[in-house]
Amino acid sequence: MIELKHPYLNEDHEIFRQALRKFLEKEAYPFYEQWEEDRMIPRSFWTKMGEQGFLCPDIDEKYGGSGVDWGFAVVINEELERVGTSLIGIGLHNDIVVPYITTFGTEEQKQRWLPKCVTGEIITAIAMTEPGTGSDLANIKTTAKLDGDHYIVNGQKTFITNGIQSDLVVVAVKTDTQAVPKHKGVSLLVIERGTPGFSRGRKLNKVGLHSQDTAELIFEDVV
Ligand SMILES: Cc1cc2nc3c(=O)[nH]c(=O)nc-3n(C[C@H](O)[C@H](O)[C@H](O)COP(=O)(O)OP(=O)(O)OC[C@H]3O[C@@H](n4cnc5c(N)ncnc54)[C@H](O)[C@@H]3O)c2cc1C
Repeated sequence: MIELKHPYLNEDHEIFRQALRKFLEKEAYPFYEQWEEDRMIPRSFWTKMGEQGFLCPDIDEKYGGSGVDWGFAVVINEELERVGTSLIGIGLHNDIVVPYITTFGTEEQKQRWLPKCVTGEIITAIAMTEPGTGSDLANIKTTAKLDGDHYIVNGQKTFITNGIQSDLVVVAVKTDTQAVPKHKGVSLLVIERGTPGFSRGRKLNKVGLHSQDTAELIFEDVV
């Protein structure tokens, strides 16, 4: 008889939990202290998670996911947290960033990005916070100016989870600096690793979460 931890979890979730815990006992627990010392979680851990179906399991099967309910995300986050808080970037990828693409992405974008988000070949990040703007998001200074059929992005972000490793960043930008109220002028653009003008700043030292690569991102005339 399997103990059910929450009223919304059923036996399938708990079988999944046992498989994940067994996987983490082999692939994460023995290495976590070393990752904290190295101040980085290896990309190979992400792809191992992906191979076993532990990344974005809610994504539709046609994009490589398992199409399962949100309870599986709860299990993943609980089990990763048991290993150590620095694994928080995986939940951010699964439950915060990738859903922007599944919800708002075009079919072409979904086909291009989602399968690799599931395998761990693409690590994602969300970049909202700036050196002068955290809670007051409507006051971001990063701009995206429309120029023909593309935007040109300039600005700087800080405290970005998965900042160093991310391949795909959902970036909050001002597309209309005159908008009233101010938040109406904010848009989200996706910027890929390797786009000219997109670079990483410092990997920030913190009081904890050492292997979580919280970093600065810089955008200079990024098309
Ligand atoms: C480990 C870590 C990871 C992070 N990852 C990300 C990420 O992936 N992407 C991202 O975009 N950001 C990320 N952040 C940034 C985080 O979202 C910001 O730190 C947060 O939004 C707060 O902004 P701030 O630090 O500028 O604090 P501030 O906005 O300067 O706030 C400082 C204090 O003032 C209070 N305060 C602010 N405004 C008001 C008000 N109007 N009334 C009363 N009190 C107020 C706040 O509650 C807080 O206590 C991360 C931060 C950390 C520490």
